Amino acid sequence: MIEVDRSSILSWQKCPRDDYYSRHFGGRGIERVRKNLPQVFGSAFHSGAENLLAGDVEGAVAKANIYLDLAFSVEAVDLEEKQTAYAVAEQKAIAEGLTRGWWAYDGERFLRDFEVLEVEQEGRAELTEGMTLMFRPDALVRERSSGDLYIVSWKTASTFGQYTVNQISSDMQSMSEVWGRENQDANDKMKIEGVLYLFCVKGQRKMDDYLGFKTQNTPLAYCWKRSGPTPDEDEYAWTYGWATEELNEKTGKLVQTKLGKGWRKFPVWEVYPGGVKQWIDDLASQRITPRHINALEGVFPQSMPVSRRADEIESWRRQVVAQEERIQEALAKVEFVQETGAPIDHALDRQFPQHTARCFDYMSRCQFYECCFTPAVKADPLASGLYQIRVPNHPSEKGSDD
Ligand code: SF4
Repeated sequence: MIEVDRSSILSWQKCPRDDYYSRHFGGRGIERVRKNLPQVFGSAFHSGAENLLAGDVEGAVAKANIYLDLAFSVEAVDLEEKQTAYAVAEQKAIAEGLTRGWWAYDGERFLRDFEVLEVEQEGRAELTEGMTLMFRPDALVRERSSGDLYIVSWKTASTFGQYTVNQISSDMQSMSEVWGRENQDANDKMKIEGVLYLFCVKGQRKMDDYLGFKTQNTPLAYCWKRSGPTPDEDEYAWTYGWATEELNEKTGKLVQTKLGKGWRKFPVWEVYPGGVKQWIDDLASQRITPRHINALEGVFPQSMPVSRRADEIESWRRQVVAQEERIQEALAKVEFVQETGAPIDHALDRQFPQHTARCFDYMSRCQFYECCFTPAVKADPLASGLYQIRVPNHPSEKGSDD
């Protein structure tokens, strides 16, 4: 039985060598021992999502915090910066800010409009004889007004713009999770309208020249403060510069303004009375300068429903089946050489070529960079200490009970 999931399908499409390392090396594939920060943060946020979709905000915050504490305490996070204690506090503040912020900004409306039927439920569906798709949608919801079903996908992104919208319109999830859930039960097929993408913008990580290390640029966890004669007279703002409501008659644009002298940027969790909880409450009620703009608007851009035509989805299924059949043939050729005891380099080059255009993307480096380009690691990735046998993504995956 061949098992595939969304990440394995995308892995080959990104780079065949990535697919070899992530799914086949050592029988199950390998992964980095330490995960990058966006990956860890995304998992932490997802760990509380079930509570959040049940309206349990405190439970969601607690779960995200526990996840982050654990990930940092066992040094499972690949962090460039040295300020680990600061980074833990910062990431916890952002996770809390996103969770509380989503609930304050959109949560109640979302639960009024949608009934949550399932959260993070594992599923399997047969793509073709002998080949199974494994999937785990973030949630399945029913729109109360129409009865239509949607898959929910949380997307924690550093920024949001036209690029994100373009990417989402052809995102594979809108076919894989929809097809999977529709075909999970061959005797009881359901019709799903599409995927509802819920964006959460957590801000970009940038060098802070004042602090001397990287911080995340988000109003969820950072404020601007001007100290008053007494703490009660301290002033706060959520951004340094903004557009006023006044129109410049010459340019036809809104007049821009910024904070004056005496303002400094601070971590909310360290300086704001009442901490992140109170800060988010005050942002949501627009009690923080500039009050005419809702700071949470930019953090939670409008959710996007994406529906795909039935013929597109069927074409996707055919392509996945064909792709996986090619991978199995390629793997058999590599294993044939391996069984003879000869080096597999040439076979790998022919069967699992390196797509070097994908070694670096916008924000990060491929996790197998050292396997590809550091001879000592390439010779034995597991002995390097950088990699471990991959932990199965799905409880039902072959070998997940090892
Ligand atoms: S480092 Fe580059 S060539 Fe190697 S697996 Fe990653 S994307 Fe492919």
